[in-house]
Amino acid sequence: MPETPRVGERLHGFEILNVTPLREINITLVELRHLVTGARMVHLANEDPNNLFAVGLRTTPQDSTGVAHILEHTVLCGSRRFPVRDPFFSMLRRSLNTFMNALTSSDWTLYPFASMNQKDFYNLMDIYLDAVFFPRLSEMNFRQEGHRLEFADPLDSNSSLEFKGVVYNEMKGAMADPSSLLGRRLNRHLFPTQTYHHNSGGEPDEIPDLTHEALVDFHRHYYHPSNAWFFTYGNLPLEQHLEMIEERALAHFEARSLASEVLPEQRFEEPRRVTETFPVAADEPLTQRSMVQVAWLTCDIADGFERLALDLLSILLLGNPAAPLYKALLDSRLGSNLAPGSGYHDDYRTTLFAAGLQGTDPEHAEAIEKVVLETLEEVARRGFSRERIEGVIHRFEFGHREVTGDSYPYALMLCMRLLGPWMHCGDAVSALRISTHLERLRKELEAGPFFENLIRRQLLDNPHRVTLTLRPDPEQKRREEQQTAERLAAIQATLTAQDRQRLVEEARLLKEVQEAEEDLSCLPSLELSDIPAEEPAVPSTSSTESGLCVQWFAQPTNGIGYFIAHLDASALDPEHQPYLPLFCSLLTQIGAAGLNYMEMAERIEAGTGGIAASTEILEDPRDTSRFQALVQIRGKALVRNQDKLFGILSDIFAAPDFSDRDRLRTVLGQIKTTLENSIPSSGHSYAARAAAARLSPAARLRETWSGLELIGLTKKTAELKDEALDEFAGRMQAIAAALLRRNQLSCALVAEERDFEKIRPALNTFLAGLAPQATEPVAPPTFNPQPVRLGWIASVPVSFVTRVFPTVPFTHADSGGLLVLAKLLRASYLHREIREKGGAYGGMSSANPETGLMSLLSYRDPHLVRTLRVYDEAAHWAAAGRFSDQEIKEAILAVFSELDRPLSPGGRGYREFANTRQGLTLEMRQDLRHKVLATDRTALQRLAQTYLVEGRARSAVSVLAGEDLLRKANAELGGEGLEIRKI
Ligand SMILES: [Zn+2]
Repeated sequence: MPETPRVGERLHGFEILNVTPLREINITLVELRHLVTGARMVHLANEDPNNLFAVGLRTTPQDSTGVAHILEHTVLCGSRRFPVRDPFFSMLRRSLNTFMNALTSSDWTLYPFASMNQKDFYNLMDIYLDAVFFPRLSEMNFRQEGHRLEFADPLDSNSSLEFKGVVYNEMKGAMADPSSLLGRRLNRHLFPTQTYHHNSGGEPDEIPDLTHEALVDFHRHYYHPSNAWFFTYGNLPLEQHLEMIEERALAHFEARSLASEVLPEQRFEEPRRVTETFPVAADEPLTQRSMVQVAWLTCDIADGFERLALDLLSILLLGNPAAPLYKALLDSRLGSNLAPGSGYHDDYRTTLFAAGLQGTDPEHAEAIEKVVLETLEEVARRGFSRERIEGVIHRFEFGHREVTGDSYPYALMLCMRLLGPWMHCGDAVSALRISTHLERLRKELEAGPFFENLIRRQLLDNPHRVTLTLRPDPEQKRREEQQTAERLAAIQATLTAQDRQRLVEEARLLKEVQEAEEDLSCLPSLELSDIPAEEPAVPSTSSTESGLCVQWFAQPTNGIGYFIAHLDASALDPEHQPYLPLFCSLLTQIGAAGLNYMEMAERIEAGTGGIAASTEILEDPRDTSRFQALVQIRGKALVRNQDKLFGILSDIFAAPDFSDRDRLRTVLGQIKTTLENSIPSSGHSYAARAAAARLSPAARLRETWSGLELIGLTKKTAELKDEALDEFAGRMQAIAAALLRRNQLSCALVAEERDFEKIRPALNTFLAGLAPQATEPVAPPTFNPQPVRLGWIASVPVSFVTRVFPTVPFTHADSGGLLVLAKLLRASYLHREIREKGGAYGGMSSANPETGLMSLLSYRDPHLVRTLRVYDEAAHWAAAGRFSDQEIKEAILAVFSELDRPLSPGGRGYREFANTRQGLTLEMRQDLRHKVLATDRTALQRLAQTYLVEGRARSAVSVLAGEDLLRKANAELGGEGLEIRKI
C-alpha cells in the first residue's frame, strides 16, 4: 500500500483533515478538503485493484419536473474538452471499466465508475470531471434525453402530436410499477416541506413543464465544487487522483456559497392516513393488489448512535420470519408479504422507519395499522431477550465485515453507506466505524431497557406518522392518457403552420444529428494490447472428507467461511422437477429436526450470515443439448461459527419439516407476490427466457424454473388449501428424501487458508451424517426446437421486445466472435435506433456461449413493430459490414470488460466451483479469449449472415406488453403476428 499522508499535509490544493484506520474492514480512510473551493473528498485506501471514483453533488429540486434526473442524463451528452454526442456511451465501449453509471437520488446526483486498469481509470476520470463541471447541455440533448414535442410520424405535420424523450418514457415505466411507486408516494406525504416531497426522477405529467433554461440554471447552481463530494477507493496512490481533480476541475473555480442543504423537516402534530393509486388494465383483477405502509419520520441523520440503534431495531422487528413485527404482519393474513421498503432508511437528512403489507386490499388499511401499533406496544412492554439482541448484533457485524461486490462494486456500497451522513452533517467516518457505537450500545443495554424506550421515543410516541394505501385504479391509465391527449390537443390548436414546420424541422435535425458519423478521436481509448492476455487462475486444492471430494478455495474473505453444495437433480421424478424452485425457497424458511420455523430462523440469524438454496443449470461446454440440472445450497458464517452453520445444515438435510400448513401458505404467498412484482422491471428477461425455451432443452428447463411458467405454477400453488396443501407438502418431503443425499452431493469451501483447519472438523461431522440413497438416472424428455412468435399480456404501459437466436456451444470456433458481434450490435446499432431514436430506455443484445443463444432485447419500449424491424435491419447492417475498425476494437474491449468483471472473494470461489463442475476449464476459457481477440470484420460479417440473417427462420420472438399494444401490433404484423397469451 502506498505511504499514508499525514494530517495537515497539503497536496495539490487539498488539505488532509483526518486519517482513520478502519481495522474491521482493512481500509484506511483519508478525509480531505479542497482549500480554495471547499470541495470535500474521502479516499479509502486498501489492496483492492478494482479502483473506484465517484463525484457527488447535493441536488435538492423543488418540483417534480425531473430536473435533477434529466440533468444527470444530459450531463453525459458531451462536454467542453469532449464535444461529442455521447461520450459516456462511447467510453463505455472503449474502456475496460468494471462499472460505469450515473445515479439520481432524492437529494444527490452521483457519477461513479470503477476500473482495474490504471490508464483506463484516469481516462475515465478525465471524461467524468469534464462532463460534470463543463457539460455542453445543448438544447438538442435536452430534447432527446428529457422531453420534446414531436409528431407521431416526426416528418408528417398532419399526424398527431406526442411527448417523447428518454427520461419521459423511463419515468412512465417506473411510475406504472407499484413497487417503485410506493416509496415515492410515501415521500410525498411523509415530507411536507423537504426536497423529498418531490419526485426527483420526474412525474410524467410534470416533465413537459421543464424548460431547457431551467435545466441549465440548475446545473449552474448545484454542479459547483463548493457543492461537490469526491470519493475514491482502491490501491492506486491518492496523490495522482488529487492532481487530476485539481487540474481538470477545481483549479477553474472559486469558492461559492450556495444553498443546497436540506433543513430539518417540520413535524406533524397528528398522524395521517392517505391513499394513492397506480394504473392497471381495465379487465385485471383488483383484489389483493394494494399495498399499505405505515411510516414514521425518525431521527436526524446527524445522530450516528441513534441511527445504529434504529438499524438494529429494524432487524429485531423485521429481520427474519420470527421477528415480532414481521410475524405479526404475516400472521394477520391481511396481505401476502411485507411491503417493499419495509425497514429503516437512513439515506435522507431525516431518517424514516416503515412497515406494512403488499398483496392486500384498501379496506384492510386500518387493520394493518392496528397490527403494527399493537405489536410495537407489546414489544415495548415485553422487550427482547438478550440472546436475540446478541443474534442481531452478530448479523449486523457480519454484514459490516463481509466483502461483497458480485452485483456492483464493493466500493460503491461503502460510498453509499457514508454519503448521507457525510453530505448532510460532515461526518464521513461513523458509518464505516461501528465498533465505538456498539460499545456504547452494550453499556446502555446494561443500564436498563434500551430498545423498549427507543420504540416509544421514535415510533409509538412520535406523531409524525403516515399510513399510506396504494391501490390499483383501472380508470387511471385512461384518465392520464386523456389528460395528456387534451393537453396535446390544446397545444396543437395553437400551432401555426410555421410552428408545425418548426417541429418537423427540429425532428429532422435531431434525427440527422443522431445518425451523423462523428469524429470520436478526442476521446481517450485503450488498445487491444491493454487487455490482460490471460485470465488469472483461481487456485484451489482438493481433499477427501468423510469419503467425499471437497474443493478448497483460499480467498481474502475477512474471516468468513463460505460453503457451497451442488445436488444433482437429474434423477428426480420429472413430475417433481417444476416444483424445485418452490422447494428451494421453502427449504431454508421452514422448521427442521423438531424445531419450528421461528426457532430455525433465529438459529440462522444468530449463527450465520445466511443460508440459501436455488436451482441451477450448467450446460456442457461442448454440447448445449446436454446439461446438469441441480440444486445449489450456500451458507456463510464467521469462521468461529462454522460448527453452528454445519449443525443447521445437518438438520435441514436430515429432517426438513414441511408439515406446518400456515407457514407453507405464508411463504408461497410471499414468493407469488415477489415474482409478480418483478415483471415490470424485468420484462425483457421474462420475454427472452420464454423465447429461448422453444430453442434448447436447457433453456426449456430454465423457463420452468425461473420464467413466466414458474409464475404460473406459483400462483396455482399459492391458492392450495387443506388437503391439497398437505399433498403439496408430501411432494416437498418426497423431493427432500430423493435429493438431500450424499450420493448427489459435491461441495466446496471458500475461506482464508489459515482457517481451513478450523473449518474441517465441522464439515466432516456434517458430511459423515448425510444419508446415502441409490437413485436411477431418469432419461430427459425429448426436445424439438420450435421457432415461435409469442405475445404476453402484462399490465405495463410499454413493451419489452425480444428475438432469440440459437447459436453454438462454448468450445465451438464461432463462440468468441458471437460475443463480439453482440457488443457491436448493441453499441453501434441498437442503442442508437432503439434508445436514442425510438425513445426506449434500452436497446440491447447479448450472446451467451454457455447457453448457445443470442438475444436482441428492448427495455421499456414505446414501440413494438418498429423494434422488430430494427432487429432485422441490425442483422443486415452487420452482415453488410457497415461498421468501422474502431467499432470492432471497442466491441472486443467491451467483451473483455465483461469477461474480466471482478467478483467478491466468496463469489470467485462459487464461480470457479461451478466451472469445475461444468467441465469449463481454464484452457477452454483461455481459448475463448483468443477467439475474441482474433475476431475481424470478415468473421463478424459471416457470423451475422449465418446466425442472424439466415438464422432468423430458426429464431423465436417473444414480447411482453400491454394488451392494446399487442393487438395493435398484430394488426400491422399480418402473417408474422404474435400468438397472444396471458401470463
Ligand atoms: Zn434515467
